[in-house]
Amino acid sequence: MTAPSQHARSDKALVSLTSVGLTPVVPVNPTAPLDLGNAAARVSGAANKKEIEAALSQRLGRLEALQDALFADGRHAVLLVLQGRDASGKDGVIKTVCGAFNPTGVRVTAFGPPTPLELRHDFLWRVHQAVPPRGQVGVFNRSHYEDVLAVRVRRLAPETVWRGRYAHINAFEELLHANGVVICKCFLHVSQDEQHERLTSRLDDPRKNWKFRAEDIEDRARWAEYTEAYHEALTRCSTAAAPWYVVPSDNKTVRNLLIADVLMRAMEALPLHYPTMPDAVREAARDFR
Ligand code: ATP
Repeated sequence: MTAPSQHARSDKALVSLTSVGLTPVVPVNPTAPLDLGNAAARVSGAANKKEIEAALSQRLGRLEALQDALFADGRHAVLLVLQGRDASGKDGVIKTVCGAFNPTGVRVTAFGPPTPLELRHDFLWRVHQAVPPRGQVGVFNRSHYEDVLAVRVRRLAPETVWRGRYAHINAFEELLHANGVVICKCFLHVSQDEQHERLTSRLDDPRKNWKFRAEDIEDRARWAEYTEAYHEALTRCSTAAAPWYVVPSDNKTVRNLLIADVLMRAMEALPLHYPTMPDAVREAARDFR
């Protein structure tokens, strides 16, 4: 699992987020007010792009090293859940932040509308199968949260059904946590103006036309309803076992840095150890050199 680092060496002192004008994102506190307004999607006072990129590159280097230790240690898994409105940048995070990892140890799963078979199962059935095994990193591009977001807003199931799901989700995530899965859930928060700009560029640029879907217009028209649904999901399901982070995402480089930082801190908090060589192997290799 070792590969030459494309990023900054991980043994250099880490440039703090505050030194580049940013505040680290903290878990959503379920009992405190949560601001999902347009202004909260932006950050002011951030350093210039070059400095932000340098801080990001450093964290990507650390993530690469941490993944190596995660794999060797084999007792924990990491699950990064990415949620956000259309064009909020989930794919960009996967490409840039998750690109730090050795692909052998990462599995990305995108959750679209459930298939007929998936609809015949409970809503967590397809999700549970995509949870990473110990030693690996899993990334969800959308997730089981669509079952209390899209399902709620587009009225795909009665309220009695989706309302019961918050408790199911918390119990499910608690189960994963108890089994060694470290869960980081990031809501990529874009403003209405920024989303408009990004969706417009998908219309204007022939190479991006394929990304534009008619449903994007419908979902944008339900902005307030989605905000309400996100608000409830983020406050009801931000737990010690599986915290939610609201990541200001109007600026792509800042977004990547903040998410890389969340992931790095979560992995650094793990007691990862490289296994010591068994005596029998050491003995067998005694005269090898
Ligand atoms: P982008 O954010 O770049 O626009 P995307 O994440 O919207 O990309 P798509 O494959 O175009 O990717 O969309 C996936 C669609 O599947 C979303 O509209 C989402 O709401 C929907 N979806 C995912 N899970 C469910 C679910 N459980 N029930 C209903 N719809 C779902």
